[in-house]
Amino acid sequence: MKKYVDVILPLPLPRNFTYSLPDEGSDEVKAGCRVVVPFGRKKYYTAIVCNVHYCAPTEYEVKEVSAVLDVSPILFPKQFKFWEWLADYYLCTQGDVYKAALPSGLKLESETVVEYNPEFETVERLTDKEQCIVDLLVKEKEQSVTKLEKDSGLKNVLGVVKSLLDKGALFVKEELRRNYKPKTETRVHLTAEAAKEERLRELFDELSRAPKQLALLMKYVELSGFMGENTLEEVSKKELLQQAIVSVSVFNGLVEKHIFDVYEYEIGRLDKKQRGVVELNPLNEFQDRAHEDILACFQQKNVCLLHGVTSSGKTEVYIHLIAEAIRQGKQVLYLLPEIALTTQITERLRRVFGSRLGIYHSKFPDAERVEIWQKQLGENDYDIILGVRSSIFLPFKNLGLVIVDEEHENTYKQQDPAPRYNARNAAIVLAAMYGAKTLLGTATPSIETYHNATVGKYGLVELKERYKEIQLPEIIPVDIKELHRKKRMSGPFSPLLLTSITEALVKKEQVILFQNRRGFAPMVECRTCGWVPKCKNCDVSLTYHKGLNQLTCHYCGYTYQLPRSCPACEGVELMHRGFGTEKIEDDIKTLFPEASVARMDMDTTRTRTAYEKIIADFEEGKTDILIGTQMVSKGLDFDHVSVVGILNADTMLNYPDFRSYERAFQLMAQVSGRAGRKHKRGKVILQTKSIDHSIIEQVIANDYEQMVEGQLAERQLFQYPPYYRLIYVYMKHRNSDSLELMANAMGEKLRVMFGSRVLGPDKPPVARIQTLFIKKIVLKIEPNISMERVRECLLRAQSEILQDERFKSLIIYYDVDPM
Ligand code: ADP
Ligand code: ZN
Ligand code: ZN
Repeated sequence: MKKYVDVILPLPLPRNFTYSLPDEGSDEVKAGCRVVVPFGRKKYYTAIVCNVHYCAPTEYEVKEVSAVLDVSPILFPKQFKFWEWLADYYLCTQGDVYKAALPSGLKLESETVVEYNPEFETVERLTDKEQCIVDLLVKEKEQSVTKLEKDSGLKNVLGVVKSLLDKGALFVKEELRRNYKPKTETRVHLTAEAAKEERLRELFDELSRAPKQLALLMKYVELSGFMGENTLEEVSKKELLQQAIVSVSVFNGLVEKHIFDVYEYEIGRLDKKQRGVVELNPLNEFQDRAHEDILACFQQKNVCLLHGVTSSGKTEVYIHLIAEAIRQGKQVLYLLPEIALTTQITERLRRVFGSRLGIYHSKFPDAERVEIWQKQLGENDYDIILGVRSSIFLPFKNLGLVIVDEEHENTYKQQDPAPRYNARNAAIVLAAMYGAKTLLGTATPSIETYHNATVGKYGLVELKERYKEIQLPEIIPVDIKELHRKKRMSGPFSPLLLTSITEALVKKEQVILFQNRRGFAPMVECRTCGWVPKCKNCDVSLTYHKGLNQLTCHYCGYTYQLPRSCPACEGVELMHRGFGTEKIEDDIKTLFPEASVARMDMDTTRTRTAYEKIIADFEEGKTDILIGTQMVSKGLDFDHVSVVGILNADTMLNYPDFRSYERAFQLMAQVSGRAGRKHKRGKVILQTKSIDHSIIEQVIANDYEQMVEGQLAERQLFQYPPYYRLIYVYMKHRNSDSLELMANAMGEKLRVMFGSRVLGPDKPPVARIQTLFIKKIVLKIEPNISMERVRECLLRAQSEILQDERFKSLIIYYDVDPM
């Protein structure tokens, strides 16, 4: 009997499509296997089988699967369930989820560009078809699958390309690859010759005339724990030089004498070598109690919030929980909000868990992500995956624990494109599907999470003591409105901040300055007529970047030359308004010429290595003052920061969003937490024009509970989360009049179904992005209404609207639980 498969295509299609299976070689096909199918005009895609059956579709003529790519599934049944949930809940298609979930190498399509791996060496002979494709790629290094198909005259080359990828002959081309350089560390060990005990003894004698070299060699022996015989213990060059306090030339002397062997060691990545691991740090009494409480909580509840102040040792508690889960044969998923944080945490977890730890994130080369995916399917899978948002899509066999660190971070929410999911919430659902537990950890819980914990939906465990009981920093508010009036400010800096920086520098301590705006000047304005340059594609004013001498749109990235004169009045005086991180850096360099200064924001961290370098330099004390946007607030652990300056609290407080107070509190509390972590109490200078603002008072008093109480009252009054669920309906169109018409029509339809739960349509704060005009409808839904019903209504309204000939080119999408 003819077999058929329903497949998910990597396209935003409202439904799945059915294809027939070829008679040969399709016995093995089951749900979760990939097949190549034709779709649209001469295009081929890798699709995922979600169902195998014997019913031919009736509404359309069925096409045949062109190739079967897998003999065993690359997804587990739980992944399907999870995808389905995501698509339903976040009002997108399974195709959207599929695209987000799989690394490119696993979802080849006609458009995919591949390149030849010049280091490829074949063991087994390539088939004729494979050889033909390789020959084409040797001639021209990068080509799309479509082009290869045309030039080779072969049919169905996706299958051939896939097998070449599996053999390592090809790569999927990525933009990111160019940026990616593996992080390496220079390490050193004795040459085989020098490592012989007798020879080493001789060397000690020979080097007595080169005392510095001798000292260095002795230091090596000490650090490596070298015991003679054949144990070639390695030491990091950096550490060795620091400890021995000798210059590089002394070191090079030993390399020239063939005593040291130097090599680059890749760290913080897929680690193939088994490495020695150390014991867990013992927990202190507070951590131990929190740990016990979490375990007790998991007896009753699936989700537990660990509310622990900055530097209380939450990570140590996680490590103990992970060790237990692994002991029970379970897997752990450890989510972080930001790639920047992975380096520090990776090092800590590696020490304990060695090669049982896998790291998964989007700045790794695709081939490596494919490798991890495949590894998770096999026998030899990782026990712990440490990763950002997208690692919730990895296949797990036996997930037992999910840790969501810094759970309040809004980077867990994917904004664009669909699926616009919140990885924290999705991870909780994923864990529940496995019967696993979820631990949410943070010093500043999101209001939703805290609410869930206080009403008993989640467990709540508090950890209020910092490790070694160092006090939380002293937060000193500075009224810059008053200082401005008295003309006592030097640009964005108050006298107190300047003296505090000076004092810190004298004592060789470090400083972090936080300004939540990048660029040089957030705005440029004509002194004569008030003209402000705006982006021609978006409805926003442009930011001036001095380094580039350009105006940039932070929404679409478009850049403009700074005009010489005002296009409105031809006045030549264009003033800068406000301070971005770039301007702060400029000013600080002028004020403190002897200090070494670095800046961490989106402009300086385009590549992963740039990130790591800024953080490493600061950790090692090479930088005295670090200036940054919210990036510097995220869970980084530095040892010598004595002063943190918050330059302008008001930009955060005045942001037009119902979460702005919550976010402002979290940002200020988190960035303050970077001060005085290890040895002594730190100091935070909080500059603001609204010195009496309740949020400022709560930050100073470190009164999280008070902040929540105030915010919850407002949220209830104005029908916001956690009391109501929000859904934003976005509509986009090139023409503003047509959009108006369509948005109103949609609004009317929704009002019929949802009544007064519908607000709008309105213009969002940025009403035009990349030449498309935008309108937004807000839905406020009581939490007890089923999402399924809501989804049905929304999709019905959408399809009715789109059936109207006039509205065909309208783009509609949804943001569920927007952040
Ligand atoms: P948090 O995650 O709560 O901010 P961390 O786990 O990063 O705190 O701990 C802060 C610092 O204190 C880290 O450098 C960590 O190594 C150290 N620390 C915390 N608890 C312990 C412990 N039980 N043993 C040894 N070091 C600890
Ligand atoms: Zn002007
Ligand atoms: Zn723009």
